[in-house]
Amino acid sequence: MTNILYDALIAPHAGNEQPFMDCDDGSTITYAGFVRRVAQLAHVLQNAGVTTGDRIVVQAPKTPDTVALYGAVVQIGAVYLPLNTAYTQSELGYFIKDASPRVIVCDHNDRTVMSDLGAEVNATILTLDTAGTGTLSTAANKAPEHFDTRPRGPEDLAALLYTSGTTGRSKGAMLSHKNLLSNAQALTDLWEITHQDRLIHALPIFHTHGLFVALNTCLLAGAQVRLMETFNQDAIVEELPKSTMLMGVPTFYTRLLGDPRTTTDLCANMRLFVSGSAPLLAETHTAFLDRTDHRILERYGMTETNMITSNPYDGDRIAGTVGYPLPGTEVEITDPETGRALPAGEIGMIEVRGDNVFQGYWNMPEKTREELRETGFFITGDLGVKSEDGRISIVGRQKDLIISGGYNIYPKEIEDVINEVDGVLESAVFGVSHPDFGESIIAAVIPEQGVTLTGKDIAEKIEPLLARFKHPRQYVMPDALPRNTMGKVQKNILRDTYGT
Ligand code: ATP
Ligand code: MG
Repeated sequence: MTNILYDALIAPHAGNEQPFMDCDDGSTITYAGFVRRVAQLAHVLQNAGVTTGDRIVVQAPKTPDTVALYGAVVQIGAVYLPLNTAYTQSELGYFIKDASPRVIVCDHNDRTVMSDLGAEVNATILTLDTAGTGTLSTAANKAPEHFDTRPRGPEDLAALLYTSGTTGRSKGAMLSHKNLLSNAQALTDLWEITHQDRLIHALPIFHTHGLFVALNTCLLAGAQVRLMETFNQDAIVEELPKSTMLMGVPTFYTRLLGDPRTTTDLCANMRLFVSGSAPLLAETHTAFLDRTDHRILERYGMTETNMITSNPYDGDRIAGTVGYPLPGTEVEITDPETGRALPAGEIGMIEVRGDNVFQGYWNMPEKTREELRETGFFITGDLGVKSEDGRISIVGRQKDLIISGGYNIYPKEIEDVINEVDGVLESAVFGVSHPDFGESIIAAVIPEQGVTLTGKDIAEKIEPLLARFKHPRQYVMPDALPRNTMGKVQKNILRDTYGT
C-alpha cells in the first residue's frame, strides 16, 4: 500500500542533497534534510496520539518547520488544516469546533487562547514559533529521522482548507491526495517547472496558492524555494536576479511596479511570474510588461478545486483572461437557471470537473449537494465566458451580479471603465436594493494618492462609454475598499454599509 502524495512529493528526495528551502536567516535546508525533518515531526504527532484521518490545525508563522509539518501530516496519513494567522479568537473558535482536531499547532504567544479553545474538543496543543523553537520543534529535534509512512489512497483526505470568507462564512473544503497531486502534476508540466528553478515564495502558506500551487509543484519538480516569512520588497528585489519564478497576488505586482528598482535587468534571470487569487488588472499586466519585458501569467482557481485554468506558458498570455482549462480539467459555462451548457461568447456559471475537484464541504452535506452535481461538475459561483477557442474570462461572482430594471449588470465591466479614468486607483461596483429597480448601482472609488475626484468628475468621463442602465446612481469615496485577509474586496460589506 502506498501514500500517493507522500510518495510523489517527499519520498523521492530521501537521498537528494540539493537545496530545498533558503530561509530568511540565511540557512538552507536540503531536500534530504527536509525528508528527515518531516519524519521527526511525524514522530511527534504520533506521540501525541495522531491516527489516520485526524485533523491537525496549524496556525503558525511561516517557517521551514511549518512546511515540514505539512509533510509530516501527509506522511502520518492525517489531514492538514492550516488557518490564517490573522484570525481572531472568535473566528478560531468556529474553526476548531467545526473541525474538531486531534492536535493544534500554534505560536507560543497564542498558546493560552488555543488551550482554552482546544480543551473543548480535547485537542493537544503544540507550539511552533518564528525562531524555530516551541514544543513541537524541540520534541522533533530528539525524534528518529525515519518514520514508517502510513498508507493512504487517492480518495483519502490530505487537507481540509477553509475558503477565504470573501462572500460569507468560510467553508471547509475536503481535499484528497488525488485532488492535490493531480493539480500539482498539471501545473508542473504546464509551467515547465524543473529542479533548475528557484521560486521566490512570499505568499502565506495557509491558503491554496502558497501552500499547494507553490510548494507542491516545487516538491514535485525538486525545485529550490526561497522561503520568505512575509512579502518583503527589499528581499524580493535582492532575490529576483538569483531566481526564476515568482508566484503572487495582484498586489505583489502593483507594489513591484511602484518600486523604481524593478527593471528588465533586475528580472533578466526570471522565467515566470504568476498571478492569481484575485483579478489582475489589464493595466498592471501591461505596465509590468513595459517595465520588465515579462508577461505575467494569470491563472484561476479556488480552494475547492485547486487550479482550474491557466494562461499558456508557450503562447499568448492575454490580459484580462485566465486562459484555458488545465489538462485533465473540464470547464463548462452553463445557464445559472437551468444548468444547461452555453455556447462560446455567452456569460454564465463556471462549472468544473476533474481530479482536482474537492470531495465536498466538511460538515455541510446540504451545501455540498447544492454545489457539487452528481455528474461531478462543481458549480463555482463565478460567472465567466468562453471564447471560440476555449479561453475563459471571469466576469465576477454570481453573488455580486447586479440586477437592475430587469437587466443583468456585471460590476467588472463598469469597474474596468472607471479604473481607466485618470486619477482613479481602484473601484468596486455593487448593487443595493431599490424599490423600483430591484437594485441600484453604487460605485466606490479610491483616487490615487494626492488626487481629489468627485462622483461628478467620474460620471462625466464614464457615462459616454456605458449604456444608461449601467451608470452608477451614486458614487462613494471610502478611505479604502474593505478587503479580507487575502486582499480580496468584500462587496457584502459595501452592500451592508451603503444599502438601506
Ligand atoms: P469564500 O468562498 O469563502 O467566499 P473565496 O471564494 O474568496 O471565499 P478562495 O477559494 O480563496 O475563497 O478564492 C476563490 C475565488 O477567488 C474564486 O472563486 C474567484 O472568485 C477568485 N479568483 C481566483 N483567481 C482569480 C483570478 N485570476 N481572477 C479573478 N478571480 C479570481
Ligand atoms: Mg469561494
